Amino acid sequence: MTNTTIAPEDLQKSILQHLEKSLGKDTQNATLYDWRTSLSLALRDLVVDPWFRSTRKTYEAAGKRVYYLSMEFLIGRLLEDVAINLGAEDASRKALADLGLEYDKVVRDEPDAALGNGGLGRLAACFLDSLSTLGIPAYGYGIRYEHGLFEQHFEDGRQIEVAEGWLAQRHTWEFERPEVTYRIGFGGHVNGNWEPAETVIANAYDTPILGWKGRWANTLRLWSAKPTVLFDLGSFNRGDLVGAVVPEALARAISRVLYPDDTTEAGKELRLKQEYFFTSASLQDIVRRFGSEGYDIDTLADHVAIQLNDTHPAIAGPELIRLLADDHGVEMARAIEIARDCLAYTNHTLLPEALERWDLGLFARTLPRHLQIIETIEADHLSRTGSHVRIIEDHSVKMGELAFVMAHCVNGVSALHSELVKKTVFADLNRDYPGRIINQTNGVTPRRWLYNCNAPLRELINRTIGESWVDDLDQLKKLETHVSDAGFLEDFMAAKQANKKRLANWLGEQVGQTVDPAAMFDIQIKRIHEYKRQFMNILETIAHWNEIRDNPNGDWTPRLKIFGGKAAPGYFVAKEIIHLINDVSRVINTDPVTRDRLKVIYPPNYNVSMAEVLIPAADLSEQISTAGKEASGTGNMKFALNGALTIGTLDGANVEIRERVGEENFFLFGLTAEEVVNRRTQHDFSRTAIANSPHLARVLNQIADGLFSAGDPGRYHGLVTLLYEHDYFLVTCDFDDYHATQNKVDTAFVDRRRWSEMAALNTARSGWFSSDRTIEGYAKDIWNTPSLLDKSGS
Ligand SMILES: *Cc1c(COP(=O)(O)O)cnc(C)c1O
Repeated sequence: MTNTTIAPEDLQKSILQHLEKSLGKDTQNATLYDWRTSLSLALRDLVVDPWFRSTRKTYEAAGKRVYYLSMEFLIGRLLEDVAINLGAEDASRKALADLGLEYDKVVRDEPDAALGNGGLGRLAACFLDSLSTLGIPAYGYGIRYEHGLFEQHFEDGRQIEVAEGWLAQRHTWEFERPEVTYRIGFGGHVNGNWEPAETVIANAYDTPILGWKGRWANTLRLWSAKPTVLFDLGSFNRGDLVGAVVPEALARAISRVLYPDDTTEAGKELRLKQEYFFTSASLQDIVRRFGSEGYDIDTLADHVAIQLNDTHPAIAGPELIRLLADDHGVEMARAIEIARDCLAYTNHTLLPEALERWDLGLFARTLPRHLQIIETIEADHLSRTGSHVRIIEDHSVKMGELAFVMAHCVNGVSALHSELVKKTVFADLNRDYPGRIINQTNGVTPRRWLYNCNAPLRELINRTIGESWVDDLDQLKKLETHVSDAGFLEDFMAAKQANKKRLANWLGEQVGQTVDPAAMFDIQIKRIHEYKRQFMNILETIAHWNEIRDNPNGDWTPRLKIFGGKAAPGYFVAKEIIHLINDVSRVINTDPVTRDRLKVIYPPNYNVSMAEVLIPAADLSEQISTAGKEASGTGNMKFALNGALTIGTLDGANVEIRERVGEENFFLFGLTAEEVVNRRTQHDFSRTAIANSPHLARVLNQIADGLFSAGDPGRYHGLVTLLYEHDYFLVTCDFDDYHATQNKVDTAFVDRRRWSEMAALNTARSGWFSSDRTIEGYAKDIWNTPSLLDKSGS
């Protein structure tokens, strides 16, 4: 059985029934929220069947399950995702239309589940989608943050953070499991047994994750923290009303917010508790499920593959050993072996400040038994390898080293990144454990990032090569033969134009700006970070503005520059860059001389849903990080797949994108990773670069003179000084090449035929960047988990 099809009338009946029976509303009083919830519940009913079927098949096959442990799952909205995977999009549209409702409006009412910072969390969400599409039994495990990541607002151009309220409304997709709870201990003493001083309860909430055509569904299980004692009645009866709720407030704090920072060692104690909380609950759940199937604990690794998404769940090594040794009586040396056979670790960054380290005192206070086990792991590692790499060093516990030593496989996320992992952060461990580090280049799910977000292009592709590309993205190659066909190229550009019009409308609604859909849409959306160099982009924008003003009658290609992204609340420089972009945008957008040819827009609160509107409309994708710093990037893949051309450096997966789409269809600039390292050793490299670049020098003077901060000329002295004195990310060195390459982009954009060929080839040759291909790689090289789908496709 495939493709759970449903007739519009049946779906409508179910919607009306849910409206009445689940929500207690009639059609007269139903709000948009009521309709959206009713449609969601009606579709959710259809997910249950394939979900149960997948679980039964998994038990029958007695196979291995993948457990993906991640601090973040940036899933976004689910309604459309479920509708397309069920093949129920048209039925939903029609059922609602007959009730006088607009499907697209109903879909947009759903808040984003923003349980992640950026790429790492979005990757976890794409992996869940691919695991279900491929029919590999899997669980995602994470935290059910009550407030997710913060909501970004701008006040006078500055970022303001506001608590996010996605759970203020009912989260329609999840099933609460009040009976699935585990005790999580902290602190206390070890006297033979660990006696924690403090205990909280982890309570499971399950969301089914449906794959393409509804053939398979896995589970995302998120943990919520609850107190062991719901309410301190003693205090309450003594009149201490506030004291009575303190234990509850402390326990619930653990699943309150996602630390809004993925690159610094933040949060200390609460963050460590969060990491242990969800890792321990997940492992207890895994071991319980394994036990319920009646296997010998010695065979755990034959049935369990645990993937650690970065070091956040790295406590899984010692925790699994603790469960095996302390609770199941496995001998310590064997427990270490079993744990390692189960565990694998994905490294996501080379930024040294992002490799987690815990203060030894804090660690010993919070997890005393685990510290003992880590000492045993370290001794075992040192004696077996003769290594000099320690896990506990400089009064801290190093989670990268712990994850590495306890994993049977360590992977980087792009070819370049994996090589740099071997040569830099884990050079010594790579010598101690040759062959342990492998590569799995990231990917993105084509269901969300093409089929769903780009209907015009989806329809064109379906008309041209059929629909089987959706779960076999390599088939996009078949489009290549059509690239010499002028009619196809016109249709391709018409699809792009339709997306640009949709974005123009969206910008009108969201930020009240009118834009010209004929202009080049040049987009940089991602977390704001010095290494990602939004700073260089806005400096180049100013240089371009200067050129237009110097030659107002020149033949300038009209451009719309769009920025999007949040900065970590404590990341001062990133917040200054946001302020600068907004200040520059105000000046440029009101300049009557340039207004028709250059505009800068920065819509606040970048998230998955915003990406789904922006990416299909992009002509140019900005992937301009300092070479050697972006581990992979996945935004770069989404853009290429949707027919945007990339202006980028040889960094992360840009390298592989360029190889695949062809160097003539990619705008390359900038120093290589090796040149970056060398350049930093040169005395006064940034002053030299500025002195040699009249464009850049002029722009920096304009900023320093307060041209964009009238009334507060000193506002950006810090930023400008940073470039002169500590330009660690080499904005100054790459600026001229970037500027010259942008001019080439302007020229290329005017040759419509050639541009459309390049754009179409980007789509046709991006099939390899499907997360289905990535997951197939993990399944084969790391997990050893076959698909349980019948070959007939059911
Ligand atoms: C894809 C995606 C990212 C990752 O973007 P990069 O450009 O690879 O950093 C971050 N946030 C959201 C919402 C995304 O969809």
